[in-house]
Amino acid sequence: MSAWVPAARLAHALFGSEAGYLEAKIALLSLYAEVDAKVAETTKDLTLPCHAGCDACCHEAVFLTPLEFVVAYDYLSAHTGPAELASIVREATALYEHHQGLIDAFDVPPPGGAADHTDIARQLKFRCPLLAADGGCRIYPVRELYARLFGASFNAQGGIYGCHLVGEALVGQTLTLLNAASTAQRLSSFAHARKRQVFPHYFAHLWLPE
Ligand code: SF4
Repeated sequence: MSAWVPAARLAHALFGSEAGYLEAKIALLSLYAEVDAKVAETTKDLTLPCHAGCDACCHEAVFLTPLEFVVAYDYLSAHTGPAELASIVREATALYEHHQGLIDAFDVPPPGGAADHTDIARQLKFRCPLLAADGGCRIYPVRELYARLFGASFNAQGGIYGCHLVGEALVGQTLTLLNAASTAQRLSSFAHARKRQVFPHYFAHLWLPE
């Protein structure tokens, strides 16, 4: 089982130097701010069901890159007490062990000649280990890119990338939203931001985040 390790050590293991990590972190936070501004603009006239305390989107398998994970881990380390941190690692590692077959399937080509891992992703559902008891996100300011797009963008099929509550609320409304996949693709030019996995995978492999 993973133990809590210092965020600086994890960042150094992945980026090789503090400067390399900080450069990637600044670029990531800048992209987050840009996407947030675009989402605010494209959704400002819509009636969305999202509100503080609603955590419907945090019971799905949410994917993020190693870079995003290290930035989230860094934030969590600075804002959470040791007992809670240990509890998060325990919970996330238990989730990984419970769902290991499905989670590890994302690290190999999709089965049966499928074009992607969408079918596996649909089967993988768990309560995010970073979701606090009050329904708030423990890392909200640095939450992953897909969380920022969820409920506010189009999926690859031109439907709503979001939960059923958002889909139902937007029926009949005129929409000009970001495309989730192409927006997420912008991260691929960043260091350690090509592959994606779920939080339980990362917490269970703290020394080897890729
Ligand atoms: S990290 Fe936060 S926003 Fe992302 S799934 Fe977990 S609780 Fe939700």
